[in-house]
Amino acid sequence: MNKLTLALLLCFSPCAVSDGLPDLGDASQTVLTPLQERQIGQQSMMEIRASKQFLDDAEINDYLNQLGNKLVENSTEPGLGFEFFAINDLTINAFAMPGGFVGVNAGLLLTTQSESELASVLSHEISHVTQHHLARMIAGQQGEGLVSMAALAVAILAARTTPQATEAAIASVQARAIQKQLDFTRENEQEADRIGLQLLQKSGFNTHAMPEFLERLQKATRLLDNNAPNYLRTHPITSDRIAEIENRVQKQPYLLVQDSLNFQLVRTKLIAAQKTAPEGIAYFSDALEGQKYGNPIAQRYGLVGALLRNNEVGRAAQELTTLRYLAKYSPMSRNNPMIETLSGQVKRAENNPAATLAFYRTAVQNFPQHRALIYDYTDLLMQNGQAEAAAKLLAAQIARHPSDTTLYDLQARAYAMQSRALEQHQAQAYSYAWQGKLYAALEQLELAKQAGGSFYQLSTVESDIRELREMLDERGRK
Ligand SMILES: [Zn+2]
Repeated sequence: MNKLTLALLLCFSPCAVSDGLPDLGDASQTVLTPLQERQIGQQSMMEIRASKQFLDDAEINDYLNQLGNKLVENSTEPGLGFEFFAINDLTINAFAMPGGFVGVNAGLLLTTQSESELASVLSHEISHVTQHHLARMIAGQQGEGLVSMAALAVAILAARTTPQATEAAIASVQARAIQKQLDFTRENEQEADRIGLQLLQKSGFNTHAMPEFLERLQKATRLLDNNAPNYLRTHPITSDRIAEIENRVQKQPYLLVQDSLNFQLVRTKLIAAQKTAPEGIAYFSDALEGQKYGNPIAQRYGLVGALLRNNEVGRAAQELTTLRYLAKYSPMSRNNPMIETLSGQVKRAENNPAATLAFYRTAVQNFPQHRALIYDYTDLLMQNGQAEAAAKLLAAQIARHPSDTTLYDLQARAYAMQSRALEQHQAQAYSYAWQGKLYAALEQLELAKQAGGSFYQLSTVESDIRELREMLDERGRK
């Protein structure tokens, strides 16, 4: 079935490059080809996905992709296929990898005070990619004895994430040297600011948010002294740089752009994740009572989630009724898929399967692209013995998100329930492969082969096995 899936993974993997080294052509070439860039980014992405740093929350990642792609549409490379993702780290950082992979730390998301500020960081990172800054730096390494793509990918990853990881991941002196050279130059920063500002403006955000956010970061740095946020280390901020941006936006109107509800809800989710359930209940109740800060719909969303985590289902349902009532009469909050997902979770906890199934049927029709809803609905379907319906929905989602390992795990379960052993093991293999667990993936493919199936099914398994073995051989050779 999903022949395409593994092929996609394989063609971006380093094995597609002979001897584990990119063919950089003649020595005068200073720019990587788009495919080479994509390969480096994809490999780094696999390592991030396999690490605990990847924030595996489909709603947060979908939100970042919606916001990011809104900006990308106005860039010079709208068709590049950018992927935005969140990193489970409270330090302030954002980073771009070649090929259009942009990571945003939870800490940065929490530090931004408006959606325009977050958009200003994303547009700066997008511009590093579209201007091929990293690719040029990497290509520039070749004369100095670049060992392998893997070392390079690790260096990029480490340089762009936490310093602790840097120390752990970069063992060799050479890799350390590469990392140092990967810090952006002043010219690159200025260019990313300039192009990023254009993206912000074209996309309808408040351009003044960019200097404001940088200034706040710079002030925070002074207080922190030598504990500078990573973002400042990889994107050095100088007063000159801020002054230049301020100069550019001076004549532009100060737009009051309303934050989307999803921006608020994603931040609420991240705040709640830092607290225990009782702490969350206290925090959001307090915020609502005093009408102190922020958006009351987002605060109530946080409260319902915390109550649910604390198994206070009755109270959660009560607060949810209020939340849905408020959302219904606010144009920005009506029809929000994150509120719908939370509603489904409360309904499931109330333990009324018939009503809950009916609720999900409508919700999934209204929000067919919201992965979190699909996860919960297909899980519920399986609990109610409807594995075939679940498998059908999952296959459609996987076509849209071919690297989503949660979807494959659910799919493997649905196939197991239907005694479709070959497909079960094949789905499990794809889940492992996208997590970088190639041996485990191969083992599942062998099991799929043993399970037997049609001639066509068996030949896709055979070809997946061949390609995985080639990948493993390449890894072994490095
Ligand atoms: Zn930068």
